[in-house]
Amino acid sequence: MRYLITGGAGFIGSHLAEELLRRGHEVYILDDLSTGSINNIRHLKTHDKFHYVIDTVMNKQLTAELIDGADIVYHLAAAVGVKLIVESPVRTIETNIQATEIVLALANKKKRPVFVASTSEVYGKSENLPFREDGDLVMGATTKGRWSYACSKAIDEFLTLAYWKERKLPTVVARLFNTVGPRQTGQYGMVVPNFARQALAGQPITVFGDGKQTRCFCHVSDVVRALIGLMEKPEGYGNVYNIGNHQEVSILDLAKQIREIAQSKSEIVFVPYEKAYEEGFEDMPRRVPDTGKIKNFIGWTPTVALPQILADVVEFYRRN
Ligand code: UDP
Repeated sequence: MRYLITGGAGFIGSHLAEELLRRGHEVYILDDLSTGSINNIRHLKTHDKFHYVIDTVMNKQLTAELIDGADIVYHLAAAVGVKLIVESPVRTIETNIQATEIVLALANKKKRPVFVASTSEVYGKSENLPFREDGDLVMGATTKGRWSYACSKAIDEFLTLAYWKERKLPTVVARLFNTVGPRQTGQYGMVVPNFARQALAGQPITVFGDGKQTRCFCHVSDVVRALIGLMEKPEGYGNVYNIGNHQEVSILDLAKQIREIAQSKSEIVFVPYEKAYEEGFEDMPRRVPDTGKIKNFIGWTPTVALPQILADVVEFYRRN
């Protein structure tokens, strides 16, 4: 099979490319290196079934050619990371909405199946835990920059489902919960790579807020298995799936665990949200997925437990 991955030089895209190649497929990636990096795919460049194009999805002619040549499209190109979203809201909204519009419109011409990556951010401030795909999305005010990401991705979801319903374009949406592993950068705010880097450098580990907020972290290898499995069964087209781990950890506990794994003497410091992000910033106190839907559909469950996930990331940063 020939796969096109937009955002293929990103953290998740590069792991997906690697696994598809390992399974004998041909992989094309399109990435403008805005948040992705050539370092993520350097080791794949000599593979005879790997092809990469450094350009933007907004280049419609090129994107059309790549989509025409593919059997399946993974659309992962997006602006992600809370820090990036708060600092560059225009870029976030435009990239996330326009790129998805272009990919869906072009894929529709030849009816190429499209996977669209969404995010657990769309659940917003919902307290209806664990989050189910059919649950309500609870967004904050438009004056609070963070919610622009959730809304841009919710629009992506609406459009993807509309193409399926109205135009019969085969599509799948997955909401990725906190995904971590080697190659993820802390540059755009993600907590695990940030803490790992701080711990290894002996710098203060910056816990935002009181550290009681919780998250569930899923290893990228588990996520990639889910992404591939979902596109292998056409019966799932037109659906939305959660992908994530269930093991909940507080951010303070996370800091302590990473400090221990890194054998670090870093102190743990608390940084108020308004200093870390912006005045009036709203965080989610908890975020837990219900993954019953994907389990029932393809038998997927996460396999890598938190200590192993953290050890993997710390080891990656130790070597790099
Ligand atoms: N966080 C933190 N210190 C950091 C970066 C993030 O305490 O250096 C917190 C952040 O406020 C949030 C959690 O860690 O409560 C997860 O943040 P991340 O940006 O990784 O993902 P999110 O779940 O917010 O999308």
